[in-house]
Amino acid sequence: MKITVIGTGYVGLVTAAIFAHFNNQVGGIDIDQDKIKNLQAGQVPFYEPGLAELVKQGLKKGKLYFTNSYKRAVAKSQIIFICVGTPAKENGDYQMKYVYSAVKSAVKGLKKYAVVCIKSTVPPTTKEKIEEIIKKNTQADCDLASCPEFLKEGSAVEDSLHPHRVVIGTESKKAEELLLKLHQPIKAPRVLTDIKSAQTIKYAANAFLATKISFINSIARICDAIGADIQAVSQGLGLDPRIGHQFLKAGAGYGGSCFPKDTWALIAFAKRLGYDFKFLKEVDNINRQQIDYLIARIVQLVGPVKGKTITVLGLAFKPNTDDIRESRSLSLIKKLKQKGAEIRTYDPQAMRNARKVLTDIDYTDDAYQALKGGSALVLMTEWPEFRKIDFKKAGQLMKKKAVIDGRNFLDKEKLRKLGFEYKGVGRR
Ligand code: NAD
Repeated sequence: MKITVIGTGYVGLVTAAIFAHFNNQVGGIDIDQDKIKNLQAGQVPFYEPGLAELVKQGLKKGKLYFTNSYKRAVAKSQIIFICVGTPAKENGDYQMKYVYSAVKSAVKGLKKYAVVCIKSTVPPTTKEKIEEIIKKNTQADCDLASCPEFLKEGSAVEDSLHPHRVVIGTESKKAEELLLKLHQPIKAPRVLTDIKSAQTIKYAANAFLATKISFINSIARICDAIGADIQAVSQGLGLDPRIGHQFLKAGAGYGGSCFPKDTWALIAFAKRLGYDFKFLKEVDNINRQQIDYLIARIVQLVGPVKGKTITVLGLAFKPNTDDIRESRSLSLIKKLKQKGAEIRTYDPQAMRNARKVLTDIDYTDDAYQALKGGSALVLMTEWPEFRKIDFKKAGQLMKKKAVIDGRNFLDKEKLRKLGFEYKGVGRR
């Protein structure tokens, strides 16, 4: 099939590469000229395991191409995926301008029947507006559909090849059949529904996962207060198949490009519908408070942070990505800076992105350099290499042997044996 993917970020590029891998003819469009130039040369602009290889294969086989020209890509396409960003506004409200603009540009170039399929996470309440844009800007026969994306950064290729489900939302039988045909090589249960339900599934999924994280972080507070162990509690909870193990890890809370903004968007569009989603507001509040909680734990170990050097390991919002959007680590660093701390930091992949937004901290070439002179180590991203740190050596480099483990990731027994004071989240 001939398809176009608009927006070649994390979602769009993976979508384009996967469908090219399944032998479709795929055009990727982006308004970012540099990104397109790099992609044409086979250079993936962000870190995502396995993606660069898939993109190179697609280019080599002639199944994948990249362009800035809507005209070239869209005219012959049967399905056009909209994968542009839907970032939150300053006030947390959702922002649809990129989606509206991409839909408009896409349908203007249409010559014959096509399905416009929204993959970006968009509030279901925006369906009518998108339909209106389509109607206004093309005479061509065109159906609207929604296939929300559930991939996780860090395992995006694997998640797209083997998803837990394929959700196809559309009111058109013809569009549904085309989308089913395209997804044929992907073995996963199908959920066939209308557009609004498909988009609600996406928001409900992210809100639920965020809820699990804030829930376990609340239980971790109880554990800290009574001397119980959150890891045993999570294990005992997760063994119940009605609950499950995933997303029951206590720590610094959730970040990234999805959970924070999608919970805020759900709160915002629920409000427009007259529903005060207090429950989800509290999930968000708990998440924000985790940073203050970590800072309180740092102060418990080292006293006021003013004038002290704090080592922060990990800047990416999670391991295996260079994405720092809504990273908990950045929130922590900003608050520590406000309190007068000096920050030394290291991340294996995310420093290039972090440098663009945080300029007044010390970036170092490895974890040991970051630890030099530190009054405390705060671990914020569970990169496997941080487990391999030689803490004997680290202890000699640090001013004070104090560890605050924001991801409950390090070997606390080993650290304590080496004379470190250790605090996790809900961990004895
Ligand atoms: P991103 O910011 O990485 O990429 C978006 C891309 O769209 C950018 O390259 C940008 O230049 C391009 N773009 C913007 N306007 C354009 C236009 N008019 N025409 C062509 N290109 C345009 O975003 P992302 O992380 O890939 O997310 C895309 C959507 O998918 C969002 O709605 C997000 O919520 C959703 N989503 C993201 C993830 C994830 O893990 N990143 C997972 C599931 C769903």
